[in-house]
This record gives sequence, C-alpha cells and structure tokens, in this order.
Amino acid sequence: MPDLHRFHGGVHPREGKSSTSGNAIQTAPLFEKYIVPLQQHIGAPSKVTVAKKDRVLRGQLLAEPGGFVSAAIHAPTSGVVSAVGDCLGPAGTKVPAVEITADGDDIAAEPLAPIAAWESTSPEDLKNRIAEAGIVGMGGAAFPTHVKLSPPPNKPIDVLILNGVECEPCLTADHRLMLEAPDRILTGARILARVLGVSQVYIGIEDNKPDAIELLTRKTEGTTITVASLSVRYPQGAEKQLIYALTGRKVPTGGLPMDVGCVVQNVGTAAAVAEAVTEGKPLYERVTTVTGAPLVRPGNWRLRVGTPLRTVLELCGGVKYDPAKIVFGGPMMGLSVYSLDIPVHKSTSGLLLLGPAEVAQFTSQPCIRCGRCVDACPMNLLPGTLSVEIENERFDLAEEDHAFDCIECGCCAYVCPSHRPLVQHLRRAKSEILAKRRAASRRS
Ligand code: SF4
Ligand code: SF4
Repeated sequence: MPDLHRFHGGVHPREGKSSTSGNAIQTAPLFEKYIVPLQQHIGAPSKVTVAKKDRVLRGQLLAEPGGFVSAAIHAPTSGVVSAVGDCLGPAGTKVPAVEITADGDDIAAEPLAPIAAWESTSPEDLKNRIAEAGIVGMGGAAFPTHVKLSPPPNKPIDVLILNGVECEPCLTADHRLMLEAPDRILTGARILARVLGVSQVYIGIEDNKPDAIELLTRKTEGTTITVASLSVRYPQGAEKQLIYALTGRKVPTGGLPMDVGCVVQNVGTAAAVAEAVTEGKPLYERVTTVTGAPLVRPGNWRLRVGTPLRTVLELCGGVKYDPAKIVFGGPMMGLSVYSLDIPVHKSTSGLLLLGPAEVAQFTSQPCIRCGRCVDACPMNLLPGTLSVEIENERFDLAEEDHAFDCIECGCCAYVCPSHRPLVQHLRRAKSEILAKRRAASRRS
C-alpha cells in the first residue's frame, strides 16, 4: 500500500542502521547484579512489595502499580534482594530501585495462568492481564498499555495502529523483532484489537525495511490487518504523524490519538502483550539495539530489565576507544547519559555510543530568522520564535504558542544553521510552566 498522507515537516537524517540491521537478536547471559527502577513508565512510581534479603524468583512481583496510571514491575531473574534504595535514571535524577543479586539459577516464579482461549476471553480480563504483566509502551514512551486500552465511553476507537516505523536512526530492534517474531506480533495485534473492539488494524513500516514489509504482508493476507509501507521520513514513528500518514486523521492541538478514534502501540509492545496473555509472562526483558562506532561488537540483544549499561557494554566486547557521548535511545530523541550505572528500562530501545568525530561542538548563535525550523517542525510550531520567548523567560507566551504540542523530535535543532538548542528550550519551557501550575494548585 503506498503512502496515503504526507505529514508536514520532518527531516532525513543519516540512517546508520546497517551495522546492526542484519544482526539476529541474541539473548544476553545472566549477570550478577540487576538494578530494577520502580519508575520506568509514565505515571505514578510503583510501590515496592519486597524487602532487603528477600529471596525472589524470575517474574515475581517486585512492585505494584502506584495508581491507575502506573505499572507493575517484576524480577528479571531469581536471587536475593540485596538493596532497596535509589538508582540513577537516564534523565540524571535518582529514582527508587530494587537491586537483585542473582543466584545464577534463573528459577521462574509460578507464572500467571496462560490464557490459551484468548479469542473467547472478555476484553476486560485481557486488559487486566496486560496490566498484571506490567506492559508499557516499548517504543520509548513507556505509557502503561492498559491505560491506553481504556478510552472513556465518549471516545470510541475504530482503528488500531501497530507502529513498526522505527524512524530513529541507528535503531534496528523493532526491525529484527518483526523479522524474527512476526507471529507473536500478529497475535498481540489481534489481542489488542479484541480488547479495543476494533476490526481495522494497520501495521505501519517504513520502506527501508522491505523484508519486514514483505514478511508481514504475506502473513496477513486475507485478514483485516493491513501492512502499510511508508516512505522514510523522521519522525514518522511519532503517534500523531503516524496516525495522519495512515488515516489522514489529525489529532487536534492538545489532543490524544483517542480523540480521532485511534490507538497506537509499538510492535514490541504487541509482542509483549502476546507473551503476557498466551504464556503468562510478565515484562522483564526486551530487545535493545546496542550500537555506535566506538563499540567492538554492535548488535541487537534481548536484555533483562535492570541490566546496568556498564554490563551491556561488556557484553558487546567493550569499546575500541573512549566514546565522546553515550545516548540512551536513538540520536534524535535519546538522552545523553553520563553514568554507566544506569540500568536498562522497559522502554530502552537503544544504546548508542558516539565517537569524537561524530560529536560536533557548536556555539549557539542568534536566530537569523531563516525559517528552516518552521519548515521542519512536524507539529506546525514556530520553534525559533518559541526559543526567543523562552530565552526571555516569557513562558506565558510560549504556552500561548503551543509549547506543549512539541513532541521533542529534534527536527528543528537538526536543521538550525545557528545551532540553537531549540529542544532544550522547549523542554525548559514545559517544565517551568508545569512547575508554575503545581505551585498555583498548592496555593489554591
Ligand atoms: S518544536 Fe518540537 S515538535 Fe517542532 S521540530 Fe522542534 S522538537 Fe520537533
Ligand atoms: S532554524 Fe534556527 S536560525 Fe533559522 S529561524 Fe529557526 S531558530 Fe532561527
């Protein structure tokens, strides 16, 4: 199926996928220590259910959801809880965490009961299972999946979209999963469609992954699932852009996909849903691309949640030379991290090492009003204007100019000839505005 609709803006960064796109997923061996963060999803932190010195088994509950918008967290292996404290998150802040010293036996806890007859199981029971298994969006956003599957009655859903776009340069984990676990992904798609009560399902894949398009098209022939081949353009994998590309529906300013009858789930999330339902397996591991020129052996790895980044690099043979930057995620939307003590999260799609030659040092210059950022912005914002407002601390103006619509895709900064830190400005504006709102609500 050709592209249906072309979203505004976007850019074409160097893809950088060839060093891992042909690498089959490898399963990491067991390690000695796992540090499992209790805040690795959008929403309330999870509440710990174990104590120091407790013995735990693989898949056992470590923390229960701290509210409806939260997620359960499970042990990645068997061992002893050696600490309940804090760990460093990718944003550089401390988050509560449970440290497990593995016993090396990897003994599984009593699994959740597999639901073999899911086609006749109620949508509510399937949704409860997805929540019980701690499934969150695995494309990077980490939004609890059961929440996305619970739209209010006045927001009817008629389209489910599986996101196999993987438009972030350098990442190939979703590509490999589509090639190596297509049936699991399709089972997950059918389960998600049953929960939502929809029959129209799209799988969006960019045309730089022709083998995945061909395989999934063949496997969905004669079904209500449509595999859509999309021309490569970043950030096509962002929800609002993907919905428009596939359906022509525009999510309104400040709105959500459910406002236009859509739910979007990553292909990795669909695979995790299938495992949770048909095997009773909680989400305690995921596929992550580990790549970059300084790395000895780039690859795609099935990693347990809680594996420290230091261990991940050792797994890949270490580095040929010191990286200038380590990015948690992809080069466009990932976070630059300064510690290898940070562990793998449920949402860690990639770990990217950049060498000195790949990290340009620029000094930000004044805006020359060239308009390139406006042309590139997929959300139709005025990034240059917003940036000046934010520099002048006019957060009120930035809010009026829809700063909250920014999806932090980085397209504006990518094209800016003045090398202005546009995304950082937008992030600052959002946090300042939210802090002011919180302060105002405490006063009232
Ligand atoms: S303003 Fe936000 S949404 Fe627009 S290009 Fe920049 S980062 Fe992307
Ligand atoms: S691309 Fe940079 S220099 Fe050009 S208008 Fe935008 S902020 Fe200004």
